[in-house]
Amino acid sequence: MIHECPGVAICGLGTFRVRPVTFRLVTAKTYAIRTFGCQMNEHDSERIAGLLEADGLVPALDPDAADVVVLNTCCIRENADNKLYGTLGHLKTAKEQRPGLEIIVSGCLAQNDREELQRRAGHVDVILGTHNVHRAVELLHQSRETGPVLEIWDEALEEAESFPSALAVRREIDYSAWVSIQIGCDNTCTYCIVPAVRGRELSRPFGELVSEVQRLAADGVHEITLLGQNVNSYGRDLTLARREAVDAGSEDALIAGSQWAADDSRRIRPLFADLLTAVSAVEGIERVRFTSPHPKDLRPETIIAMAENDAVCNHLHLPLQSGSDSILTAMHRGYTAERYLEKLAAARAGIEDLAVSTDIIVGFPGESEDDFERTLAVAAEAEFDLAYTFIFSPRDGTVAATYADRFVDPDVVSARFKQLHTVTERSALAKHRARIGRVEEVVVEGVSRRNDQMLSSRTRQNKLLHFASATALRPGTRASVLVTDAGAHYLAGELVEVLAAPRHRTRIPVSAG
Ligand code: SF4
Repeated sequence: MIHECPGVAICGLGTFRVRPVTFRLVTAKTYAIRTFGCQMNEHDSERIAGLLEADGLVPALDPDAADVVVLNTCCIRENADNKLYGTLGHLKTAKEQRPGLEIIVSGCLAQNDREELQRRAGHVDVILGTHNVHRAVELLHQSRETGPVLEIWDEALEEAESFPSALAVRREIDYSAWVSIQIGCDNTCTYCIVPAVRGRELSRPFGELVSEVQRLAADGVHEITLLGQNVNSYGRDLTLARREAVDAGSEDALIAGSQWAADDSRRIRPLFADLLTAVSAVEGIERVRFTSPHPKDLRPETIIAMAENDAVCNHLHLPLQSGSDSILTAMHRGYTAERYLEKLAAARAGIEDLAVSTDIIVGFPGESEDDFERTLAVAAEAEFDLAYTFIFSPRDGTVAATYADRFVDPDVVSARFKQLHTVTERSALAKHRARIGRVEEVVVEGVSRRNDQMLSSRTRQNKLLHFASATALRPGTRASVLVTDAGAHYLAGELVEVLAAPRHRTRIPVSAG
């Protein structure tokens, strides 16, 4: 889910999110965070912001003038390292002009490229990895005493701080929150660097998660997104923890979650479906989303939980990656195209009005014309509402990066990419047009980025719906909107009625120092 953020500023260093601050008494130290990559990184950035604010810093109105700049990096995207070093070059000049400027580099690229980063960017004050986000402020203080600090943990420790959701938070959006249910990944997809930089799968205790969602709801949050690299395998490691516990009352046993372990009639460990059901039942939570589920681990119980719990949104992101069985095997995905389509059909049969999005990689090493034709055929049959399509690019440290002898000619890949785009755009447009004339329940996200006369909102199917309103509606407002027009990536409509105002309080930060 990508939210439009009203507080976006463009500066020489790139795009920063800036929280709107309406009133300020005395200048305190300021910070700006630039986030690269996925929601997991966005969520880590919220935690780093929370820690910095707990230390007395306030968000910078002008990122160019911030006292502390955090670059939260990602190594999934192509050229991520070049972009980072380019940004660090700008910051080096800025630091020469303002010696008080402090720079923190965190995230996947820092985890993966630690020595290179240290060698090429001696002006960075703190380098920290994916497992010690909670140490950001301590390390910043340490660097003031000792000079530049590098601290990377090779794995997460089983302690609350390892989970970003367990830290202080500065949420970007008041009515909506990310909840990290799991870190790391135990799969071995050959193109993916995540297991190397995020480590083994570690599930957060069930009871803790439910308690966090209850706290969020009490704070006025009505929409949550459960985050994990493979949410469908949530709890798998909790089974081990429970079995390995010598004493059922020990702390190890309770890692499965006090609310879970307390009832002996229950399964040995909670499933993702149980978590969906439990968080959906929290009073005040109206929308539950999650990302990302692995198709091989999509269980019937999850489909039932999505169907039976009204709060769970009618949207499933189910990454296909390829429609060719031989490429799926080379990718280590653990399913065939036929099995994927069966799971998709089961989900659509079980969940009313389900929208499905996907990820597809074009040009994986060894992809033949026949392999690609199969991908086109599966994509056409699946009729996705939305497809994120990517051209394969090798990531250092992954198995697929060693398949150089099988890399596909870039011109061939480019032509295939266009063909796939045509197929996925066609189905997206058809899916959107089919909604014209329907009344959708939406949550307002804010003023449209492209047209300030329009509001942007999200439907339960995670579709962007723009509409005009004679009165200003706060982000988080629920409304019903008649769909009157559609494109491949949006819907447009007319306000029917406002259903409910948001419950959260609008915070006006005031700093003193
Ligand atoms: S499931 Fe595969 S693609 Fe997803 S994070 Fe794990 S290894 Fe990477």
